[in-house]
Amino acid sequence: MANSLKVVSLEHKMGLHGSPTCVMQYEGATGWLIGEEHDGMAAMFTMMNNARLGVGAQGIGIAEAATQHALAYAADRRQGRTPVGEGRGPILDHADVRRMLLTMKAETFAARSIALACAVAIDMAGATGEAECKARAALLTPIAKAFGTDTGISVAEMGVQVHGGMGFVEETGAAQFSRDVRVTAIYEGTNGIQSMDLVGRKMMDGGEAAFRLLDEIEAHAETARGRHPLMAEKVWQASESLREAVEWLVAQSDMTARFAGSVPFLRAFARVLGAHYHLKAAMAEGGEGPRVKLARFYVNRLLPEHAGLLVQAMAGADDLYAMSDAELCA
Ligand SMILES: Cc1cc2nc3c(=O)[nH]c(=O)nc-3n(C[C@H](O)[C@H](O)[C@H](O)COP(=O)(O)OP(=O)(O)OC[C@H]3O[C@@H](n4cnc5c(N)ncnc54)[C@H](O)[C@@H]3O)c2cc1C
Repeated sequence: MANSLKVVSLEHKMGLHGSPTCVMQYEGATGWLIGEEHDGMAAMFTMMNNARLGVGAQGIGIAEAATQHALAYAADRRQGRTPVGEGRGPILDHADVRRMLLTMKAETFAARSIALACAVAIDMAGATGEAECKARAALLTPIAKAFGTDTGISVAEMGVQVHGGMGFVEETGAAQFSRDVRVTAIYEGTNGIQSMDLVGRKMMDGGEAAFRLLDEIEAHAETARGRHPLMAEKVWQASESLREAVEWLVAQSDMTARFAGSVPFLRAFARVLGAHYHLKAAMAEGGEGPRVKLARFYVNRLLPEHAGLLVQAMAGADDLYAMSDAELCA
C-alpha cells in the first residue's frame, strides 16, 4: 500500500506536559497517510477548532436545557409570600429567583450569539477565502469554546439553586446538568489554554482582528443611540475599555504578563460581545418587547462585570509570583 508505513518507534504522550503516566506506543503498528504529506498540522488544527466549537455548543445546549428545566419548576413550586398579585404565586415571582432565571436566559443568549457569530465567520471564510473572515473566525473560536462552556457550568449551577433542596437531590435532574457540563471546560483544551490562545496566538496580528470587531460594535452602538440611548452608551463605553485592554496586551512583550490576565480578559471580551448581540437583538425586535427587556437586564446587570475583569486582565504577573513556591504550598 503506497500510503502506509510501518511505525518503528513512536510514542504519543497524552497531556500538555507529556505526562509519563499515560503513554501510547505504536511500535510495529501500520500508519496510513491521510491527505497530503506535510499538511498534518493544518488538518489537526481544523479538527481541533471543530472540536472546540462542538464542545462550546455542548455547554450552550446544557445551559438551555437547565434554563428550561428551572423555568418549569419555578413556575410550579409555591413557597413563601410573593410580592405580586395576592402573594400566592409560584417562586418565579420572588425577586431573587427572577434574578437567577433572567441571568440564565440572558447568559445563554449571549453565549449562543457568540457561537453563531463564530459559525458565520467560519462559513464566510469558507465561501470567500477572505483573510478578514478567517481572522474573525480564529479570534472568536477560543471565546466561543470557553464562554460557551463556562456559561453552561454557571447556568446549570444556578439551575440547581433555583430548585432549592430538590436541586441537590437526584429526582429533578437539575444536578445532572451541572455534573455533565463540568467537563466541557476541561476537554478539547482547558479554558485556561483557550484564553492563552486568545491573548497569545490570536493577538500576533497586533490586535488588528480584535480592533476591527470593536469598530463594528461601536458603529452599531452609534446607530442604536436614537432608540436605546442608555444601553447604546454603556455598550460603546465597554467596547472602548476593552480596546484599551487590547492595546495594553499587545504592548506586553512578556508573555507571562499576558497569560496572567488571560482568563479575565477572555471573559471581559465575551461580556462586551454579549452586550453587543443583546443590543442588536433589541434593535431588530423594535418596540419594547421581551428582547429589549432581556437586553436591558444584561447591559445593566451583567455587562458591568467587564470593568473588574479588565482590571485583573491588566494587573500583570507580579502578584502571582510574589510568594515563593514554598510559601504557596505551606
Ligand atoms: C471525560 C474526558 C474525556 C476526554 N476525551 C479525550 C479524547 O477523546 N481524546 C484526547 O486526546 N483527550 C481526551 N481527554 C483529555 C483532555 O483533553 C485533557 O484532560 C485536557 O486537555 C487537559 O489536559 P490534562 O488533563 O493533561 O490537564 P493538565 O494539562 O495537567 O492541566 C491541569 C491544569 O493546568 C493548566 N495548564 C496546563 N498546562 C498549562 C500551561 N502551559 N499554561 C498554563 N496552564 C496550564 C490547565 O489549564 C489546567 O487548569 C478527555 C478528558 C476527559 C476528562
